[in-house]
Amino acid sequence: MNLVLMGLPGAGKGTQAEKIVAKYDIPHISTGDMFRSAIKDGTELGLKAKSFMDKGELVPDQVTIGIVRERLSKDDCKKGFLLDGFPRTVAQAEALEDMLSGLGMKIDYVINIDVDQAILMERLTGRRICKNCGATYHLVFNPPAVENVCDRCGGELYQRADDNSETVKNRLDVNIQQSKPLLDFYETKGYLRNIDGQQDIDLVFADIDKLLGGLK
Ligand SMILES: [Zn+2]
Repeated sequence: MNLVLMGLPGAGKGTQAEKIVAKYDIPHISTGDMFRSAIKDGTELGLKAKSFMDKGELVPDQVTIGIVRERLSKDDCKKGFLLDGFPRTVAQAEALEDMLSGLGMKIDYVINIDVDQAILMERLTGRRICKNCGATYHLVFNPPAVENVCDRCGGELYQRADDNSETVKNRLDVNIQQSKPLLDFYETKGYLRNIDGQQDIDLVFADIDKLLGGLK
């Protein structure tokens, strides 16, 4: 069961990733974790990646791809894996294809959790935080009993700068532009499966589960 998970910020990718790896007992391979562990283990590629990160530079594809190859060659990936955050570009996706075929593996599905941009905006801009105690709320999913007042301590609620509409819209636009060619690439390959991410969390997982059940 070799999977790639895709979805825009706010689509619920993290939640679904947890559910998939728990049920199917495959490793969740996120780019961040992979870099951290390669650096911690002091592998040659890990050190190389660190030297770019320390300078505030982007890690070159060649290094990132090498780290992915090392990770996918480990024993725990024999029964499958869930890749999350890689590939980000078509060049990386092509490298992944080559790498997997070299390891005698292939991708089964690219699962894209699909949510309308307007709904993502609502999810991502609705967060409010208490100035006093730090409790978090959401205007739609977890509103305080009294508007702008913390249930716990009566403090005033505010919106973090990262959560304002303009910042969120920019972040979504950048992500949409980056992921579009990748989705097209995987659609052409026949791997892409769009899952309706606008349903309740459990229903989203039920759809993924139904898809993956066919692989066993
Ligand atoms: Zn409070």
